[in-house]
Amino acid sequence: MPLLVMKFGGTSVANIDRIRRAAKRVGVEVAKGYDVIVIVSAMAGRTNELVGWVDEISPLYDAREYDAVVSSGEVVTAGLMALTLQEMDIPARSWQGWQVPLKTNSSHSAARIEEIPTDNINAKFGEGMQVAVVAGFQGISPEGRITTLGRGGSDTTAVAFAAAFGAERCDIYTDVDGVYTTDPRITDKARKLDRIAFEEMLELASLGAKVLQTRSVELAMRYNVRLRVLSSFEEQSDDAGTLVCAEEEIMESNVVNGIAYSRDEAKMTLISVADRPGIAAAIFGPLSDAGVNVDMIIQNISEEGRTDMTFSCPTNQVARAEKALQGAKDRGEINFHDLVADTNVAKISAVGIGMRSQSGVAAKMFQTLRDEGINIKVISTSEIKISVLIDRKYMELAVQSLHDAFELDKTA
Ligand code: ADP
Ligand code: ASP
Ligand code: MG
Repeated sequence: MPLLVMKFGGTSVANIDRIRRAAKRVGVEVAKGYDVIVIVSAMAGRTNELVGWVDEISPLYDAREYDAVVSSGEVVTAGLMALTLQEMDIPARSWQGWQVPLKTNSSHSAARIEEIPTDNINAKFGEGMQVAVVAGFQGISPEGRITTLGRGGSDTTAVAFAAAFGAERCDIYTDVDGVYTTDPRITDKARKLDRIAFEEMLELASLGAKVLQTRSVELAMRYNVRLRVLSSFEEQSDDAGTLVCAEEEIMESNVVNGIAYSRDEAKMTLISVADRPGIAAAIFGPLSDAGVNVDMIIQNISEEGRTDMTFSCPTNQVARAEKALQGAKDRGEINFHDLVADTNVAKISAVGIGMRSQSGVAAKMFQTLRDEGINIKVISTSEIKISVLIDRKYMELAVQSLHDAFELDKTA
């Protein structure tokens, strides 16, 4: 039997009505003759609530217990989805991550998938089961503890299953009808893309466009999974939504194809550190050991042998970063006068594979922000993206004005 993976995000399973609606979509594919693996998220808002409880009890939590708690939302929706399908006379059963077993490494709260054995589920398909409903986002570590794949991780579960089972396609059902030139919640000029290249989607995702988890795009690219993003709220044709595919499958493309933002950024500055060989290693080593994901880095001009070092990291890692740096200071490995955290910043990025061959994108981006009176705090670039850190209060304005400046509402 040909096989499809269908993933339903939080808003698509937010209540019983929506679970029924999603199950109906699954029924349509089953009627066409597909075996289906359904990956479900927790009901909308549930994971945030669970994370909130953990934070309230223990801000510097034990990640193994964090995972035990936050993985629970998906357990509920997997069972409910299987029951709904059974009520429709579709043979279905649910699986939790450990039952598959979806094996991961031990990096709790950001675990990487290592292996998905297919025999267990395939045996059930062989016995006449038509839909396997799998709890997204969760797996099991070599130590036998529950792990989670990082926020948005059900996308990655879905793509990994599609790769492991050789699915014809991996459909990601969500609350928007595809991937847009920017978050449609920020500007109604955002335009839906029929196709987007893996590389661009990868950048957009890693720069904050949460429509797909970054790792899911990486896996789709590596294993050549046909990945589609579409709405669970509308009737869907076979070419609905956005296809994430190889660059060669795209005929026309703008220089900039997307604007991403991330409000979840903090800028940290170490004031007056000794400017000597090894100082960067002494600062960023302990940060890395503490699991802080440092993104942008700038070292300021040095005066009389001392300099300021600025870096950005996710807001929820500020406490960890402070603890790691204070520890290094207490051990005499580094010395600084002060450590200042600015949590009122946002990162805005312009992404496009066309940047490889066309210059002037950075200049246009800087001019646009200047015209709006927005100050740039940190800049970083790569082959196909430019990112800037700005005051968070200008985030929406920056996205809208860049979307206008690069004429993203128009097709190439
Ligand atoms: P789900 O719960 O289905 O996984 P998410 O909330 O994780 O859904 O992702 C969908 C959301 O991603 C949309 O509601 C939208 O606000 C946001 N988003 C951000 N950037 C984009 C983009 N470029 N295109 C489409 N959606 C985007
Ligand atoms: N429920 C998890 C989250 O909200 C995983 C997911 O929905 O993809 O992050
Ligand atoms: Mg998501």
